[in-house]
Amino acid sequence: MLEYLKIYKPTGIKLVYGERQYVWDERGKRYLDYHTGFGVAFLGHRPRRVIEALREQMDKIMVTSLSFDCDIRKMLLQELSRIVPQSYSYVVLQNSGTEAVEAALKIARKATRKSKIVAFIGSFHGRTFGALSITWNPKYREPFKPLLPEVTFLPWNKVDYLEKGIDENTAAVILELVQGEGGVNPADKEFVKAVYDETRRKNCLLIIDEIQTGFGRAGTIWAFQQYNVEPDIFTAGKAMGGGFPVGIVIMKKNVGEAMVPGEHGSTFGGNPLACAAIIGSIRTLIEEDVVNQARVKGELLMKMLNEELSELRIIRRIKGLGLMLGIELRKTPQNILTMLQNEGLLASKAGLTTVRLLPPYLIDHDNIVWSISVIKDAISKLYG
Ligand code: PLP
Repeated sequence: MLEYLKIYKPTGIKLVYGERQYVWDERGKRYLDYHTGFGVAFLGHRPRRVIEALREQMDKIMVTSLSFDCDIRKMLLQELSRIVPQSYSYVVLQNSGTEAVEAALKIARKATRKSKIVAFIGSFHGRTFGALSITWNPKYREPFKPLLPEVTFLPWNKVDYLEKGIDENTAAVILELVQGEGGVNPADKEFVKAVYDETRRKNCLLIIDEIQTGFGRAGTIWAFQQYNVEPDIFTAGKAMGGGFPVGIVIMKKNVGEAMVPGEHGSTFGGNPLACAAIIGSIRTLIEEDVVNQARVKGELLMKMLNEELSELRIIRRIKGLGLMLGIELRKTPQNILTMLQNEGLLASKAGLTTVRLLPPYLIDHDNIVWSISVIKDAISKLYG
């Protein structure tokens, strides 16, 4: 009898249905979803426009390799131009976040003809060999060595290390503007500006990984729009497919021009269904005013979390940006996560001690009030 390799710890629940900000298990119990499949269901479960776009595409064509022309891919470029600043020129379509990061690394090396990559302590960029090499957590990296050579991890939010750490051999510096998996750690504005300036001085590229922060979650379409920097390359995924697996790399003209046909490829990347899903997601983003809602609801959630929880002894701090929030504890959050799940609230862990909240933009005021009271109760019951 076959079984699945145990690469994830089971939560003990079987989910059978999802709609908007909720999911249901096989016994009909409803959960408010602040887990969202590690941030994917930011547009809610089964967003209508995504389903419609997928259905329509399924009735036309489901397979065309990137060497064939295809209407839906053309349409996707038009839709993307509604959410990507005009200063960007080229797009590569992939199937997941980690693949988008791989492509970005290859493109950076080709464009600069240099090899070193600088990443940061606390970073997470994926699990394939290139992306894993620039993912900080030794638990993920160590068993799989040797990884990419010439990777340097610099301290997070510390300007002083940049000048020496980013040198003439550096092809690219890569960072998340809010480290997700690493603990929901937002970058300081001065730090990001200093990273940007150093990449200009050392003639290397800045890659911003927007796979978790992007597509509205941080309260702007792209988190970098709050930091007044424009990366040379940025990656996106997760929320952008509305539930369909996608990865995307977007870059400036001078960077993309370094690549020639055959140097990168993907059998499934940019397949018609993925294009349709992204189009449905972009339409949702714009027509439902998702970004604004994420910003306003994120601010409310942050304010109320601070008011209700920050005095509790077990809490170290509340942190985050937009609808990407973390409650950092003085202990591992596993017990709290289990208790929340029992009460009907799904969340995830980030870093060693942070409860990570990645709600869909659809949460309402009652959801926010209820979720905070459930979290507060769980903490009081467990830690007095
Ligand atoms: N980059 C960031 C910032 C992420 O949060 C993740 C996933 O959590 C990845 C890359 C990898 O994406 P995927 O799991 O789709 O391969």
